[in-house]
Amino acid sequence: MQDRYDPKSIEPRWQAHWASKDLFRAGNRPGAPKKYVLAMLPYPSGEMHMGHARVYCITDVLARYARKRGFDVLHPFGWDAFGLPAENAAIKEGVHPAERTPRNIASFKKDVISLGISVDWSTELSTSDPAYYRWNQWFFLRMLERGLVYRRRAKVNFCPSCNTVLANEQVEEGRCWRCGSVVVEREIPEWAFRITAYADRLLEGLNRIDWPERVVAMQRNWIGRSDGLEIDFAVKGARRKAFRVFTTRADTIYGATYMAVAPDHPLVMELAPESRKAGLQAFAEKVRRATKEVGEGAQAAEKEGVDAGIRAKNPFTGKEIPVWVANFVLAGYGTGAVMSVPAHDERDYEFARKYDLPIVPVIRPGDDSEPPKDKAYTDYGVLMDSGEFSGMPSEQARLAIAAEAQRRGIGKPAVNYHLRDWGVSRQRYWGTPIPIVYCPKDDPEGKGIPVPDSDLPVKLPDIDVKEVLTGMGEPPLAKVASWVNTECPICGGPARREAETMDTFVDSAWYWARYLDPHNDREPFSRAQADRWLPIDVYVGGPEHAVLHLLYFRFWTKVMQELGLCAIDEPAQKLVTQGIVKGRDGEKMSKSKGNVVSPREIIDEFGADTARLFILFAAPAEKDMDWSDEQVQGQHRFLGRVWRLIQGNLQTIEGVKAGGPPDDLRRRTHKTILRVTQQLERLQFNTAISSLMELSNAATDWSGAPGSLREALEVLVQLLAPFAPHTAEELWRGLGHTEELSRLQWPDADPALVVDDAYQIAVQVNGKLRGEVQVAASANDAEIRDMASRDPKVAGWLQGKTVKKVVVVPKRLVNFVVA
Ligand SMILES: [Zn+2]
Ligand SMILES: [Zn+2]
Repeated sequence: MQDRYDPKSIEPRWQAHWASKDLFRAGNRPGAPKKYVLAMLPYPSGEMHMGHARVYCITDVLARYARKRGFDVLHPFGWDAFGLPAENAAIKEGVHPAERTPRNIASFKKDVISLGISVDWSTELSTSDPAYYRWNQWFFLRMLERGLVYRRRAKVNFCPSCNTVLANEQVEEGRCWRCGSVVVEREIPEWAFRITAYADRLLEGLNRIDWPERVVAMQRNWIGRSDGLEIDFAVKGARRKAFRVFTTRADTIYGATYMAVAPDHPLVMELAPESRKAGLQAFAEKVRRATKEVGEGAQAAEKEGVDAGIRAKNPFTGKEIPVWVANFVLAGYGTGAVMSVPAHDERDYEFARKYDLPIVPVIRPGDDSEPPKDKAYTDYGVLMDSGEFSGMPSEQARLAIAAEAQRRGIGKPAVNYHLRDWGVSRQRYWGTPIPIVYCPKDDPEGKGIPVPDSDLPVKLPDIDVKEVLTGMGEPPLAKVASWVNTECPICGGPARREAETMDTFVDSAWYWARYLDPHNDREPFSRAQADRWLPIDVYVGGPEHAVLHLLYFRFWTKVMQELGLCAIDEPAQKLVTQGIVKGRDGEKMSKSKGNVVSPREIIDEFGADTARLFILFAAPAEKDMDWSDEQVQGQHRFLGRVWRLIQGNLQTIEGVKAGGPPDDLRRRTHKTILRVTQQLERLQFNTAISSLMELSNAATDWSGAPGSLREALEVLVQLLAPFAPHTAEELWRGLGHTEELSRLQWPDADPALVVDDAYQIAVQVNGKLRGEVQVAASANDAEIRDMASRDPKVAGWLQGKTVKKVVVVPKRLVNFVVA
């Protein structure tokens, strides 16, 4: 064993050794229960940044720990290789994306390996590989057959600087999610996935997964289900013409004193008096312009409107009410018309005050308190001045009024969603070609003819970058005549290929399932592999994908289940969203701020194990972490101390057997095993590292039996292994062992030595004894249940089963009732 702790000589050696023994191959333990640990697919930007490093450190600790607990672990890796950055760089520098991408991948991969991440590289895939994206095309065709993808002419969000369409999820406050440019509206034909058909299933599934509450809430809001009433407001003097509105507050209908409709609502120009038409047109034009400037996602700050000169009838009061055209009603959302109840809605109230429209309260607070003055009363309450419904509570009146509307044939219960279909056509080159051709003979309307499965993949053509990737004009592929001109699969005559490519979020929607079977050329992945490995047990990535990737991949899973590809319909059981890594100045790292620290710098200076400990120790996984040079050095010193501790005691413990009669250090050692195990189960990596530091200090101060010391040092190294694997392997050798520490089981705490801190508990499955686990004395019922279910033996019995009920008898047993 070397005298000095020298990570540079240790780390590459162990990385090469692990690779040569293929230690991290999934499927190594066929009989054992499985654990699928996954980091979000990175875009291969050439260099791994701190955010990436943080994700991989988290998944790596979990993967290494799970292997030691006896699980068969899948910890795969791949590349989200299509996309705009490579194409934009090509436009700027003239380097073909197909040339740049592999270089970037090689460099990024080197970084991942040098961080000591225990990846099964046999799973490696790249989404720009035709062997991968042919299955995107295959999915597209299967979804086309089922009506889940369709061609529409739609107003789309268009980013003028990326020169492409964006999905709603990709517009943030009116700006492009990627480049920040102001998004404009364009109407063009595009392909769209019918994700809205899954709105309720996407909502329901959220109840069955262990995801951060914040992400669940964001998805719920984004899907935005609201239950209400669709009801017609007849137009005065125009028989059979009516404005249809959707409301979730039918109980307030007696207070509807005006209507607000979208400027381009088709009935406006049809019904408005001639004298008003010019003014209405001008207003509509002004709103269009404003929408272009701020983007549709952003609500215009100032509510504006124009009296359209149309009069409607409130179907419940029978009173005539004015119809206003307003800039806050969007034609694309709901029915494009709303009933305005200024007494009970803030926005309607503001508008009514501005234009001097009547405000008629019809709901009073249920507890007889005074309703607020000078603003709307928006809560539920009790109805007043509402005819036969007066005195009824809001909740009940909503239903009663809806029923009455239905009885009179003017309305029906309706559900509205905020979620829109997912537009996937992109006017870019570096993506999956959409497997469609257009034949003027067989397809005069341009609906699109599917490319036969036998002709997949439709490969991207090689191109002259300078000619094709100009960033201007028609989609790049349309300029490649030899590619775009093809034969019609029906008549064999001349036809044109679809020149647009798929949104790259399609690539990331199912890559996690391809990892199970990345070389399969007959199907996306085999059912047997899906049944073995899915769902993902722990998924780690950034919360910024909450309504993008994290929604799309749930949708895709439901489709895959319908196609019979897998049994599951939720892809990831547990999601961990890691916080951001801030730069030295406490700001989010960014190139423009010049505060970026690269993991490569730390690895070069202090070694990967220091980088890993720093990243895991600086903050709990979900919290933001600050960069600190001092803490990096502190972790490096800790590893140096452990090294010297062992090095300096080798003679003392030479030939001594670990263990012996109970003493303080032995108790301390076994309590540390217990504690670190609990902390790992709870993903409390930072406190787990603190526990290791404490054990190291206790061993440093020890002057008793050498057997106790040997045991403490061996356990310290074993517990250190998931966090600082290279150093731990080297120290393990130093302690005289020959087997790889990475292969070694996690140590067990001796119950006799932790009596005050823990107890053994029996675990049953359907009343039969299936295992025994050690539980910390402080654990509550939920933690006892979790500990028991994660025990590998028990996990084997629970795998593939639905847990109906869990009975916890503290200090005695846990029984899982399964079906
Ligand atoms: Zn953009
Ligand atoms: Zn044809």
